[in-house]
Amino acid sequence: MRGRIDRILPRVAKPARYMGGELNSIKKPPEEVSVRIALAFPDVYEVGMSNLGLRILYSVLNKEPGVAAERTFAPASDMEEEMRRASIPLFSLETSSPVRDFDLVGFSLAYEMAYTAVLNMLDLASIPVLASDRTDADPIVIAGGHCTTNPEPMADFIDAFVVGDGEEAVVEIARAVESAEWRAKRGKADSSQARNDVLALLAAIDGVYVPSPAESREADSSQARNDVVRARVVRDLEAAPFPESLIVPYTEAVHDRVALEIMRGCTRGCRFCQAGMIYRPVRERAEESLRAWAWELVENTGCDEISLFSLNSADYTRILSLSGGLASEMGEKHVAVSLPSLMSVTTTFAPFAASAFDSPCAASSDWRNAAFSARSRRASAASCPIRSSNARNSFSIAR
Ligand code: SF4
Repeated sequence: MRGRIDRILPRVAKPARYMGGELNSIKKPPEEVSVRIALAFPDVYEVGMSNLGLRILYSVLNKEPGVAAERTFAPASDMEEEMRRASIPLFSLETSSPVRDFDLVGFSLAYEMAYTAVLNMLDLASIPVLASDRTDADPIVIAGGHCTTNPEPMADFIDAFVVGDGEEAVVEIARAVESAEWRAKRGKADSSQARNDVLALLAAIDGVYVPSPAESREADSSQARNDVVRARVVRDLEAAPFPESLIVPYTEAVHDRVALEIMRGCTRGCRFCQAGMIYRPVRERAEESLRAWAWELVENTGCDEISLFSLNSADYTRILSLSGGLASEMGEKHVAVSLPSLMSVTTTFAPFAASAFDSPCAASSDWRNAAFSARSRRASAASCPIRSSNARNSFSIAR
């Protein structure tokens, strides 16, 4: 398969999107694991590689013994054309395996505009687009992400949805598939017994919604295996896993930086805001852990920017200490600290900016030079310690 893929790469734009083998990617031999999961992002590589959820799930699953998680992204139109012409199915980046050969295919539904890409990827993988058409020869197709808060629009195409936080649920799903001896049973195109057994196990997992059993789909498409599903919540975010290393793409990702999740949820509760509602309650990670992770991630990736990520980072209880401390410590390495999402009226923002100017690093004679060096590719922003980032409502403290 890899050879066939390599032969079409010279004819497409940005072949690095389809090569795999990046620094910190994880490759487990398929014959040495009992469950294989393809993490599918329904957008191009540069967008998918910026998704924090995908990075967390990739790390969490690959830390599990006997479980292998690989990545696959939507090919750009030129690559898709070449793949269809050469009869190359959708493949994973790590082992170049056809996605259809995996036990589970997990889509990240981050925005509704990606729904049609999900269907196209299923088709490109030769997996029946309709869940009701799948048999034991097909993988189980699951989905998670913001959009699964309302899973019904995709219920005809997805076998099971993870509603809420995914890092604990995906491990339980992987173990359920393993305990169902799915790999031994699957492969029969004239049966759906094995997948029904697996779906029954998945329906019993907290936060997993299985739209309907195969036998009742035609009779009543609205019938669900589990009628009431409560969103999964990771209660103790501090204890929740976070990747110590991130994959370093060969080509520039949309967000080419380390994203450090400092907090989940938002204290503001704006009535129009989906994220503010579905990520309740507010949970924070400890400052000490974040500082340690920040160093580890910078060391492991070589990134020159670290982003303190959350819905509204200025609401993090110890934002002044964390951001000021990190900005000071990272200065010598020419690593910038940024806040990608801030509510403009956040009261802590003004003192935060002031504290950055007054911090010990600001007193250092060369900190502005350091900022300029780290930001040389964004020269216009480098001279301003508070700069607008690429998100409309974002600001960064550029050191
Ligand atoms: S501050 Fe932003 S993230 Fe928080 S609830 Fe309001 S709009 Fe949503």
